Amino acid sequence: EEFLKKLPKVELHAHLNGSLGIESLRDLAERLYGSTSEEFSQLCQRFIQFDRNSDLDACFKKFSFVHELTSTVEGLRYATELAVRDFDKDNVQYVEIRTTPKANSNYSRRDYLQTVIDAIRTAREKYPRILVKLLPSINRAEPLAAAEETVSLSIEFARSHPDLVLGIDFSGNPGKGRFADFVPILSRARDMGLKLVIHCAEIENPPEVKEMLQFGMSRCGHGTFLDPIDITYLKERNIAIECCLTSNLKSGTVPDLKEHHLKRLMKADAHKVLCTDDSGVFDTTLSKEFLLASEVFGLSRNQCISLTLEAVHHSLANDEERNQMAVKVKDYAASLA
Ligand code: 5GP
Repeated sequence: EEFLKKLPKVELHAHLNGSLGIESLRDLAERLYGSTSEEFSQLCQRFIQFDRNSDLDACFKKFSFVHELTSTVEGLRYATELAVRDFDKDNVQYVEIRTTPKANSNYSRRDYLQTVIDAIRTAREKYPRILVKLLPSINRAEPLAAAEETVSLSIEFARSHPDLVLGIDFSGNPGKGRFADFVPILSRARDMGLKLVIHCAEIENPPEVKEMLQFGMSRCGHGTFLDPIDITYLKERNIAIECCLTSNLKSGTVPDLKEHHLKRLMKADAHKVLCTDDSGVFDTTLSKEFLLASEVFGLSRNQCISLTLEAVHHSLANDEERNQMAVKVKDYAASLA
């Protein structure tokens, strides 16, 4: 729908390596390896195919396909630019990109973050309409030492790039690692002024959900298995739940979109935002997510505008930036009247 495509959208839950559309994957491979082979195109096609039997574990395996392409400084730099290009193409005016700093024979975690930061700065010049922020991620499936390093580097980069590095994301396979083990590390990040966005209740695990809610967060990722008491708890604390419809459907955590928890959140009038999660892996865009929500839950145009303003409110940007974003959304709404 043209209305949704032109809406100056706000994306708050997007993983870098999951956010490259099929064309960008091809562009990236072409840049890295010269012309792309038919074989590679087929691989890309298979990459975005919706496999009915896929589950969360299968989805996590898919990331290794992109991780190979971003395993060099050049690949990572170009991938970051392409991800920004893809969001800009969809008329996203603001995006918080999250990514797990990695270390391999080509780069250290420090190099990884520096490369992504440099690429975001370049992308800002190429795509001046879109404002990009960075949230380094902790992968809960990795050892605590990796998380320690990510937090130390994030504190440092948040000091040298305060307009860009705003917080930390806690993600990775929710079946692995224990949240409680990461609490001291996450506390240090928060004490140093970093905001925390946490994947919470992505699978059924009530004890962990309680630990996470008690610990606190700036926003809740997914929240698929929150119970009504949890939802009220988040609502009272003005914490938004990041809803990713296609991602939840394709990774099997939600069996049918009609049953998606967005319905319960709307009924409870909880704080919620629509997000893509991994627009490349799940072959979606933020416009498509709004369209889906409109089709399944009957969202009106006004509700789409309100949801976008809600995303502005819950973004980690500063007041001035949020005011500017809100003005763009309101101007757009007024132009339709
Ligand atoms: P990257 O951090 O490499 O830029 O983005 C891909 C990574 O983000 C995945 O390997 C995984 O750790 C994390 N991720 C992406 N999508 C999801 C999701 O739906 N749930 C969780 N828990 N983690 C995710």
